[in-house]
Amino acid sequence: VALAAWAGVLGGCGTPGPRVNADDPSLASVAERSNYTQTARHAEVVALLDRLAAASPLARRVDMGHTTEGRAIPMIVMADPPVATPEEARQAASPGKVVVLAIGNIHAGEVDGKEALPMLAREILLGDQRGLLKDLVVVFAPIYNADGNERVGNNRPTQNGPALTGIRENANGRDLNRDFIKLEEAETTALVGFMNAWDPQVFIDCHITNGSLHRYLISYAGPKGPATDAELVRFCREEMFPAIARDFEASTPWKTFWYGSFGGVFSEDPRDRSTWGTFPAEGRFGTTYAGLRNRLSILVESYTYAPYKDRVLGTRAYVLAALRWAAGNARGVHALLRGADARAIEAGRTGAPVALRSKVGPFPEPVTILGFEEEFKDGRPVSTGRTKDYTCALWDRFEATHSINRPRAYAILPGPVGEKLAAKVRQHGLRTTVLSAASGPRGVEVHRVRAMEPASRAFQGHVLVKIDTEATKSQRALPAGTVLVATDQPLGTLAAYLLEPMCEDGLGTWNAYDPWLKLDGEIGVWRVIE
Ligand SMILES: [Zn+2]
Repeated sequence: VALAAWAGVLGGCGTPGPRVNADDPSLASVAERSNYTQTARHAEVVALLDRLAAASPLARRVDMGHTTEGRAIPMIVMADPPVATPEEARQAASPGKVVVLAIGNIHAGEVDGKEALPMLAREILLGDQRGLLKDLVVVFAPIYNADGNERVGNNRPTQNGPALTGIRENANGRDLNRDFIKLEEAETTALVGFMNAWDPQVFIDCHITNGSLHRYLISYAGPKGPATDAELVRFCREEMFPAIARDFEASTPWKTFWYGSFGGVFSEDPRDRSTWGTFPAEGRFGTTYAGLRNRLSILVESYTYAPYKDRVLGTRAYVLAALRWAAGNARGVHALLRGADARAIEAGRTGAPVALRSKVGPFPEPVTILGFEEEFKDGRPVSTGRTKDYTCALWDRFEATHSINRPRAYAILPGPVGEKLAAKVRQHGLRTTVLSAASGPRGVEVHRVRAMEPASRAFQGHVLVKIDTEATKSQRALPAGTVLVATDQPLGTLAAYLLEPMCEDGLGTWNAYDPWLKLDGEIGVWRVIE
């Protein structure tokens, strides 16, 4: 059904139009045309992608889906030979091409990716970067949060241009980069649908930082958290990101480093300059979520106080370095991800542990952070403009504080709560089976609620809840209509992450288990262990 749906959203650019050169003014971004004072509206991005696609036989225009307000989420797909459907993308990936998806504007005030991605598309299709298509299928969705983009105003007053941008949230007032577990928004539904259908091996998400003071034009992060395949996390940290950083710094005048801020979100002390900390390892973040799906991910954060032009060109250069890396390591990428999928399947068969809660800590080696001498004005740090280097502990290492042995399967009991849960796990791309008749007694583990702790305030339309349970072995018949989610599938780790009630960011966190939350009550999702 998903594949058929994709055939229906093809843009009409199958026939080559008149050929134009890369320097044709009609192929310039709004940032370029305005001398870096403005950013594009939705119609301008769509028109530019249409012109780019018309200018090259290697490009196709496809829509990812539609926003809350019904705007198309436009994509340009670049491949040689061209690719327009998930079947074609998977065919291209099977002999070893890497499918890369890069999105811009998930936070629509953070416009640099929206401008940089079409510029890079132009270079790939008509300029010097065409060789990338020997090893890559490149998909750009520059204006992912299209509704937020159209709410134009002075929405990021401390950002170093452009003066007018969209807002952070979508039309429902939701932060799309917190929606990847609950999947409530049309945009996230479209993006995860794309991931399920096209299976991009690399996911790139372009942002702008929110105010920490440092000298990195681009900062970055990737898969994280102890639930994620450990080899995938290690590979990104020790191999992929250092290689991309070397290329970026060798090919530009700029510096790049792990995303973070002094103290990070973990420190209470705004004057702490001894730690450099990242953000939590929760699956609600897109790049973390892609990691939980055993895929490579790259968070790109340009520096909000850098000039708009530098930020756009820096985002372009960083994404290009990432593409060059993926093209040069296509075989290694496929081997790594095949391994991660196989390990997930095997972990489901053997009942290997999966981490449900985590804490962050420092790496043993200190790092040097390129910053500025700062002054505090009204309790907030302000740069003096004079550079200063800080020796910091890098708080970017997550370890498990609570793990469980994963079961063979999860049994979602029939009923209104279970029905919604089953639909949600399918939306994530998990394979499920439904029992047409009751099964005899099976060995299961049943969760009893020991504590539930709602958050003190609402977040993203929810009051998040931390659930503690005790799981006890039991012999139970599974009723007809039970939905089984096997863990020996490539997304098996994600199944445990979503369905375990004690997970720090599972579906239960987002209130899917609320009707079951009574002290000593049973959760209607059982672990099937025999
Ligand atoms: Zn952002």
